[in-house]
Amino acid sequence: MITPLAVGTCCLIVSLSGAFLIARAWPQPSGGQHRRGTRPMLRPVEALDQFEDWCPVEHRRTLHTRLRSGGVLCMDCRNPGRGA
Ligand SMILES: [Zn+2]
Repeated sequence: MITPLAVGTCCLIVSLSGAFLIARAWPQPSGGQHRRGTRPMLRPVEALDQFEDWCPVEHRRTLHTRLRSGGVLCMDCRNPGRGA
């Protein structure tokens, strides 16, 4: 037999676990320090070839690499080069 207490306990557990899942999936408003994806990390498979090119950020010729996605990345400051 299902008692009202058991039903209430079950509802409490479901709502608590649901709130826990929502809190985990919710984006952290103050988590800006560990934001991922702002600086593209260079994997070996992404770099097709390397060449010297003018870096608009450092205002000098640096080693750039051509990415598989079609962009160009400065190897010194990791900013997109002229060709991006
Ligand atoms: Zn650079």
